[in-house]
Amino acid sequence: MESWIDLYDNMGNFLAPSMAKDHPNLPVVKEEGCYYYGADGKKYLDFTSGIAVANTGHRHPKIVQSIKDAADQLIHGPSGVIMYESILELSKQLGEILPGDLDCFFYGNSGTEAIEGALKLAKFTTERPYVISFTGCFHGRSMGALGVTTSKSKYRKFMQPSHLSYQIPYANVKEAPVGVDPVKYVVDKLEHDFDLLFKHQVTPEEVAAVIVEPVLGEGGYVIPPKEWLHKIREVCDRHGMLLIFDEVQTGFGRTGEWFAAQTFDVTPDIMAIAKGIASGLPLSATVASHNLMEKWPIGSHGTTFGGNPIACSVALTTLEIFKEENLIENSKVVGAYAVEQLKTIQTKYDCIGEVRATGLMIGIDVIEPKTGHGDGDALKRILDLALEEGVLFYLCGNEGEVIRMIPPLTITKEQIDDGINMLDQALQKYTNELK
Ligand code: PLP
Repeated sequence: MESWIDLYDNMGNFLAPSMAKDHPNLPVVKEEGCYYYGADGKKYLDFTSGIAVANTGHRHPKIVQSIKDAADQLIHGPSGVIMYESILELSKQLGEILPGDLDCFFYGNSGTEAIEGALKLAKFTTERPYVISFTGCFHGRSMGALGVTTSKSKYRKFMQPSHLSYQIPYANVKEAPVGVDPVKYVVDKLEHDFDLLFKHQVTPEEVAAVIVEPVLGEGGYVIPPKEWLHKIREVCDRHGMLLIFDEVQTGFGRTGEWFAAQTFDVTPDIMAIAKGIASGLPLSATVASHNLMEKWPIGSHGTTFGGNPIACSVALTTLEIFKEENLIENSKVVGAYAVEQLKTIQTKYDCIGEVRATGLMIGIDVIEPKTGHGDGDALKRILDLALEEGVLFYLCGNEGEVIRMIPPLTITKEQIDDGINMLDQALQKYTNELK
């Protein structure tokens, strides 16, 4: 019988390239804590968290037990047909950690679904047709979510979504002219960009919502000044537009608070949450106040699998682990420690540009030293070498030029040291290769 590694070698025959060809596609047999166990018998330190999902670490013993316990009772729960404790208890507990009056939930299975729900809720309740999003943001790939996603044009090629949205630029403090305060620059520019849009393309009365990633994720881990997010809130309030935060990636402790909304002290009207909320089980939610949600009548949206009872039970256990193990605090403390260590790497290698972080959401620019431009080819080589050393990173940025470092929030300072030492070795090898 073929071993599965033979299947791996021929996966192009079975899996669509759009599914099978991402980087690095490490063949693994097991995951535990902050590690993957490779099919090659090696242990790999994971600085990806399965793309910001395994915030409690992989296969936390309490999560494994919670899955077993829940499966002993209920496996499928089409809400509406039946109702069960975990979905109600989870809603109550999530309402306690979410900002403002965000305490009413529509559950789905993926981040994309949570975004679809957010867009539909905004359009339905405002009776306005259009949405504004920010250039470079990623919100998912279904036709609705794609309608506001502009991180890469290849996502939209030959499938430009028909529902109209408008884009304005994301905050870029690097554009500020010398001598101009960068925060004032991006805030003024934002006001100006909204003005231009409203003057020339769409009236604010036609805009249902503004959707934004409070930290640009796939687009390159760009952290905007909080004043910029406050200005978006102000413009939304001025024109009766709803503010949607896509917290699919920033949520659940990643930025050093439960949600980026708290990190930046801005409360949206609608939030999309997913990824880390159920420690790897598929669960997401569109969240709004009860007042807004109750305007969305039965039948205007629905789901078969959303809010699965096992996933809801596991989300409750995830909350428990966060509290018991102080993962929010760990995100802040260990995140700051990681940045300190990375800054020493930055001074050693001229291909490492800016290092930026909020909590354990860390972006490391890989640049072409002479021009300072992002260098996606160099990044790929460096990450391959890092993988040989035994540490797994992911990437982001329009050219794939930013190392995305998102370890589980259970990570220790010692494990950070291990991973950064391996990155150091990889950079040393890469530098030698260039000689
Ligand atoms: N929004 C953001 C900010 C994301 O990072 C992602 C996925 O990476 C999505 C939406 C889509 O989530 P999913 O892949 O679970 O559909």
